[in-house]
Amino acid sequence: MNRLDRLRGPVPPRAHDARALAALAANPGCARRALMDAAGVDKDGTARHLGFPAPFGQSQFAITRGNVFEALVKENGCAELLRLLRELLGLPIDQVGYQDVETVGSHLRASHTRTLIDRAARELDAAVFYDHPMLSLQIAGHTAYLEPDVLAFQLGGRFHIVEIKSFSVIDGQAEPEKVAAAARQAAVYVLALRALMADLGHDPERVSHDVVLVCPENFANRPTASLVDVRRQLAVLKRQLVRMTRVDRLLEGLPPELTFSLEPDDEGVPTRSARELAEALGRVPARYAPDCLSTCDMCMFCRDEARACGSTDLLGRQVRDQLGGVSGAAEALGLAEGTIVPGEGQEEIARVLRLANRLREECLR
Ligand code: SF4
Repeated sequence: MNRLDRLRGPVPPRAHDARALAALAANPGCARRALMDAAGVDKDGTARHLGFPAPFGQSQFAITRGNVFEALVKENGCAELLRLLRELLGLPIDQVGYQDVETVGSHLRASHTRTLIDRAARELDAAVFYDHPMLSLQIAGHTAYLEPDVLAFQLGGRFHIVEIKSFSVIDGQAEPEKVAAAARQAAVYVLALRALMADLGHDPERVSHDVVLVCPENFANRPTASLVDVRRQLAVLKRQLVRMTRVDRLLEGLPPELTFSLEPDDEGVPTRSARELAEALGRVPARYAPDCLSTCDMCMFCRDEARACGSTDLLGRQVRDQLGGVSGAAEALGLAEGTIVPGEGQEEIARVLRLANRLREECLR
């Protein structure tokens, strides 16, 4: 049994989907998450067993709204999408072919997508929308299957990922966190399609880093499209995936018998106590940030842990980075109030904290 199998315990590895992979790019500094994902640990089940279930998950209303909007964009062979792309990219094409990859059945979808992409990459004069394609990506020795909304081919001889989201764009603006999450998810698809192109012997750069984001406009259901550049998300994701293939570095210094096993008893309940599991997780450093609350199943557990040790992580990445070298809130307060003597290398941050404290007191007076 290798170290990752031992970490996961005698249960099947959890498959990665695009949302899980996108979340990797949301918190690249967290060793706990990288290790749990590399081992295929069920993070949702772990958080529940610990008594800290994640607070997110779409409501049934949001899921239904999303499905209705996606159907609207795709109806009549993606006619609405064609209109949007003509406007957005000046597409000089009247007719675009439409292929629903789902017609072959789920077990053949990945290989059928592969054949269609290969054909499209060779026949430069064809323009096609591929609906329900299936791509794959190797993640730390496991194959993750991914389902982009649509692939569009032949916009200047390139492939574009089309991501359909049901959050609204109001007066040309959408919520930045939602756009960022959509960009991270689309970057996963770009990476997977580039890997497929390379595998087929085509230039992976023919997959554009500009993804097409389609959302409802204002308060109606009328779709609008914009291009989102995902190069930054791609770079972070690539670094994270390399990190997961080098898990030996993350495992260094951890006890060989360490496990996050959720092995169930006859009634499907994990045999291990929550306390023991929490202790095991505590051996692997986490890097909690408020963003975790919308991206990682372990967020409530890690937030509680960060709170218990008075970590500055709770204040967000920007504050944590500005407080570089000061990891605890109590230490930061002591430096600000002058009750702690700054250690070596802390003089500058201590000066800034004292100044901030003085200004605060003046304001309060
Ligand atoms: S919630 Fe915890 S495990 Fe997940 S990314 Fe944040 S710190 Fe890491």
